[in-house]
Amino acid sequence: MDTIALDSRLRHAGGFLGRRSGMLIDGKLVQAVSGKTFPVYNPATGTVIANVPEGDKADVDLAVAAARRAFDDGVWAKVGPSARGKMLWKLADLIERDLEELAELESIDNGKPYAVAKVADLPLAVDMFRYMAGWATKITGSTLPLSLPGEYLSYTVREPVGVVGQIIPWNFPLLMACWKLAPALAAGCTVVLKAAEQTPMSALRLGELFQEAGFPPGVVNILTGFGETAGAAIAAHPDVDKVAFTGSTEVGKLIVQAAAGNLKKVSLELGGKSPAIILPDADLDLAISGAANAIFFNHGQCCCAGSRLYAHKSVYDKVVSGVADIASKIKVGPGLDPSTEMGPLVSDEQFSRVTSYIEDGRRSGAHVAVGGNRVGNLGYFVAPTVLEKTTPDMKVIREEIFGPVVCATPFDDNDLDAIAKRANDTIYGLAASVWTANGGTAHKLASRIRSGTVWINCHNVFDASLPFGGYKQSGWGREMGAEVFHNYTEVKAVTAAL
Ligand code: NAP
Ligand code: MG
Repeated sequence: MDTIALDSRLRHAGGFLGRRSGMLIDGKLVQAVSGKTFPVYNPATGTVIANVPEGDKADVDLAVAAARRAFDDGVWAKVGPSARGKMLWKLADLIERDLEELAELESIDNGKPYAVAKVADLPLAVDMFRYMAGWATKITGSTLPLSLPGEYLSYTVREPVGVVGQIIPWNFPLLMACWKLAPALAAGCTVVLKAAEQTPMSALRLGELFQEAGFPPGVVNILTGFGETAGAAIAAHPDVDKVAFTGSTEVGKLIVQAAAGNLKKVSLELGGKSPAIILPDADLDLAISGAANAIFFNHGQCCCAGSRLYAHKSVYDKVVSGVADIASKIKVGPGLDPSTEMGPLVSDEQFSRVTSYIEDGRRSGAHVAVGGNRVGNLGYFVAPTVLEKTTPDMKVIREEIFGPVVCATPFDDNDLDAIAKRANDTIYGLAASVWTANGGTAHKLASRIRSGTVWINCHNVFDASLPFGGYKQSGWGREMGAEVFHNYTEVKAVTAAL
């Protein structure tokens, strides 16, 4: 990688940015077969920070062949569950050792504040490998009593699904890689992962750490390149047994079509338009700061962002002015500046997308309570924004904006079915939060909301043990927890006549 402009605030990642790294294919760090590279930008300035290999179909073919060999020759299986767990733990130790370097890479590449990457993204990434390391020895089947006449012994085993293709987005670059890689490897699969074109840096560094941890060649392959070429080649590849995707619902549908060729298994973690619902009896200080965090964490670039804010009419004005007040005080700036609380959006494209949604909201009659504007004239900064008077038919309420923009709407119902109906009025079903002092109300509402996660008096709480994924068009399957092994294993029923 040829480094072009190093930020003088970098303390740990300058060395990596300054050297030519490569994609991890078959245990080696390599450049693209075509020799092509593409530029990576710092979203705080729009300047190039590195040029990285532009992997495409030819590189995917090499990576899949390596993963196929490592799987079919039993290279990873022979390592055995306990030793596999140990290697995953070793990788966690290496990520932890290089935590500051990786947090800086996330910050300069994605734009998020360094301090946030350090306390949120990185510890969760480390923990994912440790949690999944423990599972490597615990993926079991069961014995089954048969009702047939005669004597049988029947049992199930869970076997790795095979070669897994993984395609990840740019919002939590390293964390999304770890959510995908750790369980697949614990289950005994071999993997070809493609990082997002906007944020490839931490994935390339992770490839080096896999090499250092001593993973056998071909078990893990990490590529950089574009979705339309490298990503599409993974999704369509006849030797890939399963594809796991996180990103937009639109591309998720393309993945499903591409996977049809060999009917590979598919899991999808897609978009959302998650409601935060504030009931009249809620602790308002908690609910207001919670609702603000639900949308402004990671600049709203979270699939589960609380982007629809519903507050009971008796507390609505207080909630909106409280969230707007917090929004107006958020310090927006470059991720590497220690005083920054919110960085730039990830790219020029996302900047245009988010600002055009705000314009659309204005045109269709929403009132901008705070924000709505660009910050500065360099990089891709958008002010934290609260849109009021939003109605169910507006595009800003119906579509995922994926930026720091919340749409607030009052409700005057006390009927939980009616409140849930409003929350469920979306093609998505990823997450929701409910804010109330009444435990009974909270759990009644939780059971009426159609989404993969419901938070009560909190939002954006993640743990390696919690399954995460979507109802409806928010996806197929679950990441994390024990549930994730449904994504990465096949069940075999063995029956012996005795
Ligand atoms: P995206 O296009 O869905 O990208 C996600 C991943 O899929 C990237 O690695 C991308 O590659 C790859 N990809 C793109 N086209 C592909 C194809 N035809 N076949 C296989 N892989 C393909 O998401 P985006 O463009 O980064 O963002 C657009 C919108 O998606 C956002 O505004 C947001 O609404 C949503 N999004 C959701 C999540 C989530 O966590 N649910 C995350 C990110 C974005 P390249 O990026 O390298 O081209
Ligand atoms: Mg894209």
